Amino acid sequence: MVNAIDIAVTKVERSKLNDLNLENLPFGRYFTDHMLEADYENGEWKNVEIKPYQPLVIEPSMAALHYGQAIFEGVKAYKDADGNAFIFRPFDNFLRFNISAERMNMPTVPEGIFMDGLKQLIALDKQWIPAKADHSLYIRPFMFSTDNVLGVQTSATYKFMIVLSPTGPYYATPMRIYVEEKYTRAAPGGVGYAKAAGNYGASMLATAEAKKKGYDQVLWTDASEHKYLEEIGTMNVFFALTNKRVVTPALDGCILDGVTRKSVIALLKADGYDVQERKISVDELVAYYNNNELVEVFGAGTAATISLIKELRYKEAVMQFDVSTWQVAPAVKQQLNAIRYNQVPDNHGWMVSVD
Ligand SMILES: *Cc1c(COP(=O)(O)O)cnc(C)c1O
Repeated sequence: MVNAIDIAVTKVERSKLNDLNLENLPFGRYFTDHMLEADYENGEWKNVEIKPYQPLVIEPSMAALHYGQAIFEGVKAYKDADGNAFIFRPFDNFLRFNISAERMNMPTVPEGIFMDGLKQLIALDKQWIPAKADHSLYIRPFMFSTDNVLGVQTSATYKFMIVLSPTGPYYATPMRIYVEEKYTRAAPGGVGYAKAAGNYGASMLATAEAKKKGYDQVLWTDASEHKYLEEIGTMNVFFALTNKRVVTPALDGCILDGVTRKSVIALLKADGYDVQERKISVDELVAYYNNNELVEVFGAGTAATISLIKELRYKEAVMQFDVSTWQVAPAVKQQLNAIRYNQVPDNHGWMVSVD
């Protein structure tokens, strides 16, 4: 057990919730009444505070704005039919947050601040968790460097924060995906496995170009040959083949170790699927498609949960699917949701109670 830490709490005088209908809110645009803030100075975390959500005052010279020591996480909390609130696998996000921190040469955040802070903040803003099907509370922990110095060097000071955003269903219409063969998201030795802010900044141009061509997202390929499949935007990718086989790219240091990815792998294995975490090339995928062995392609991530992919384009090859006949992805999505909304026993120990 970790010692509970002292968190100073200042509550809002009047909740903003009175002015808001929690139904069908767009993703990430509304924030709850409170936020958590902590400062790293002189080698230690201090000033751990929960207070009203409010702007930050920063200097133009703040290091994160210039040199990008900035990382984040994405977690979700759910309410069941009786109003009980649960967080989905937050400890996995805590561990991954500190893996990102180490890669970016930032201080790690103690379990007491991350986990207890998260639980206390969510308990305080529990009314903000929508009690509706497919709705949830998106939790965004993040950290950034705060030295006010323009010299390129590791910052000595940081801010860790958590903000919460109620969100409606992610109307995930089946997606058209462009297999990227020009731009690179991550390379061996790089920061692909970290949820580092710069990874997303670097992906915007490729995504914008794919959108101009009529696609929703890109599927990244390896940096050296653009031949092996990696992941989609902010989702890991799965390929379901005939005979209960499912292939997903192995964790190679370039792709993110998704919490949804590992949950999907566990559920598929429990259902008797042969889940293969390995390298898979575009050529191999096209061959499966041409042989009628490739039956489903889907993405897995916290924001959208499971996204069906109805078209994949690589150079001149176009692979199209009739998602209405699919079995694997809809079933795994249904199982995940049943666990999250506490409709079935949580045999995996994934749900952490807020109360
Ligand atoms: C966050 C993210 C994922 C999905 O991870 P989850 O833990 O399932 O949300 C996958 N790929 C990238 C690049 C991501 O940023």
